[in-house]
Amino acid sequence: MLAKSSTEIVRQQNSALVLAQLRRHGPLSHTELSDRTGLSSATVSAITAELERHAVIERQEQAPATGRGRPRVSFTQRRRCGFLVTVRISSDQIEYSLVDYGGTLIDRLEETRRGQEEAAHFAPALRQTIERLCARSSLSLQEIRVVSISSKGLVDPADPVLLWSPVFGTAEIDFNRIRGEGLEPDILLSNETRLVAGALARMVERVSEEKGEAPPRALCALSLGHGIGLGIAQQDSSGEYQISAPDFGHMLHLANAGLCRCGSTGCIEATAGFYGILRSAFEVPSDTIPARFVPLSEMEKLAATARRGDRQAQFAFRQAGLALGQGLGRMQSLNEKMPIYFTGPGVRFYDLMERGILEGMGQSRAIRREGLPPIHIILDETALVFAGHLDLGLEHMDRTAISAGQDPMV
Ligand SMILES: [Zn+2]
Repeated sequence: MLAKSSTEIVRQQNSALVLAQLRRHGPLSHTELSDRTGLSSATVSAITAELERHAVIERQEQAPATGRGRPRVSFTQRRRCGFLVTVRISSDQIEYSLVDYGGTLIDRLEETRRGQEEAAHFAPALRQTIERLCARSSLSLQEIRVVSISSKGLVDPADPVLLWSPVFGTAEIDFNRIRGEGLEPDILLSNETRLVAGALARMVERVSEEKGEAPPRALCALSLGHGIGLGIAQQDSSGEYQISAPDFGHMLHLANAGLCRCGSTGCIEATAGFYGILRSAFEVPSDTIPARFVPLSEMEKLAATARRGDRQAQFAFRQAGLALGQGLGRMQSLNEKMPIYFTGPGVRFYDLMERGILEGMGQSRAIRREGLPPIHIILDETALVFAGHLDLGLEHMDRTAISAGQDPMV
């Protein structure tokens, strides 16, 4: 591959800057683009001309409000410049969404999850569903530029390979296998809570900007459900949020305590995940092999029992809270104090876990010294996961808009 010249790199960076502003605030006029990016008027003209030539953006003309004078011209993404497919793999189902370059949802499909034994066939089956999505919207496979996949578990940071997941266990899934015969998208694979933390960071950034306040330097999302996921967003020196997803659910809570789905014993998840809560509520031996999936209705029943005053059920939720609180206390000792956003299906039982969570956090010296961090509850995790996919997938399309080889329009 030929090395890119420095002018070429600057040009690509500037065009990514213009597209990022359109993504966040668009449609924007030439002057607004110049103001927001800090680029000169001539540079903005050169970039928008090139992006128009490559059919990445288009002009919109709006008649002036008074009906006289010149129309207002603004730029916006050309929606059919390319398409994004998002795939959310959860414990009980797989959700597919087809989105255009402008960020509009075009189609959505849900499939009941296949069993663990089908891990080997998962990537080809996923490809078939993408083909179905394309057929339903009369798109060719070539038009799918990015496939953004999320799952709970461990992902390879460099390759789209799922290394361990609660759904497929240690059976690795290489998503490169969906490629071929016309389908050549860039594939992004993310840990789900990482996406949630990224979407939250964006949301908080927008709200702070509207209020004219500085956004928090860091925040974290703790997803409660069958497993426990943590995502942390921390600003780097340039003020951009960098997202990480430490393996919080599988941090040690109590040595030799309950058997975890990962095969270890005593993980936070083994006490605070749904199966851990059920185990302690029904006094099932803690070395019992964890259920692969607990329907939410089972947890609702148990919560109703606890709210009616059943001591053992209350104890189970409180123990879960304690494991979470102690984990969060350790996290604050290692990081700076940051707001915590609880999310995931388990937040509907937050009332039953709250005492344990506060008690557990209170045992940390860092929290006793610096005080409790602000705590928020977010009920709609699904919307956050989707928003995270959009941020990641569309930004990737912006960065690669020209190099992706869209032929210039003649
Ligand atoms: Zn574990």
